[in-house]
Amino acid sequence: MKAIVEAVKKEVEDIVSLHLLLEKPITYVPGQYVMISEPGEKKHAFSIVSASGNKLRLVIKKLGDFTGRLSGLKQGHVFELVGPYGRFNLPTEDKNIVFIAGGIGITPLYSMAKFGQDNRKDLKMDLFYCVKARDMAAMADEVDSLESKNIHIHDIYTNDGSRLSIGKIKELVPDFKSRYYYICGPPPMMEDFRKNLTLEGIPDEHIRTEEFS
Ligand SMILES: Cc1cc2nc3c(=O)[nH]c(=O)nc-3n(C[C@H](O)[C@H](O)[C@H](O)COP(=O)(O)OP(=O)(O)OC[C@H]3O[C@@H](n4cnc5c(N)ncnc54)[C@H](O)[C@@H]3O)c2cc1C
Repeated sequence: MKAIVEAVKKEVEDIVSLHLLLEKPITYVPGQYVMISEPGEKKHAFSIVSASGNKLRLVIKKLGDFTGRLSGLKQGHVFELVGPYGRFNLPTEDKNIVFIAGGIGITPLYSMAKFGQDNRKDLKMDLFYCVKARDMAAMADEVDSLESKNIHIHDIYTNDGSRLSIGKIKELVPDFKSRYYYICGPPPMMEDFRKNLTLEGIPDEHIRTEEFS
């Protein structure tokens, strides 16, 4: 379907929010993504940050040709959009969750955590948001505002020397052994956490990851 650009808003350096008006309303499961393209050209996947009726918001980091052009787009620009797709979604069963986001990998995790905050108050959630510095973190205030009775936000700024380790997760999440883990970030970070969580005895089926490449 057609997706018309309503606004492109700067989040932080090299990251924008793309607000689209869709031809038809969209229904999605938090964690899913859509694919957008110039008509007839290569499709690019982006996680749905939020959607309501005909409105859709994506948060996109400049990487190459397509994403590099977004900040210069005018209102009214028309994309082709397909989707939503994907199975990177909250569990249907009552399992407490640890979300681990690296950089722009926050997008599907924010979407799931927000849904969890609003609709799954039975779940306990901890979201670790790892970035170099706060001024490089997309949606930093929105992520922090998720902090509530059932969800705790932990910002990790690596330029300050902070690092997220399994030890730190164990310290902050007493029931860490029985949690489900949702990880989205640079591939080496995801591999590292998967390996270390496995060493801690977390079953493979409790570790879910989304690759952005
Ligand atoms: C399921 C899914 C969900 C996604 N959600 C989001 C999202 O919410 N927000 C967002 O910003 N992006 C997201 N992405 C990534 C996004 O699709 C790509 O960044 C985008 O398509 C790149 O297009 P481009 O033309 O700008 O870059 P390209 O021209 O395709 O690539 C530019 C350069 O970057 C290199 N490159 C490509 N991928 C990576 C990478 N992961 N790390 C380092 N270098 C790389 C390429 O080799 C190339 O040299 C998602 C991807 C997937 C598969």
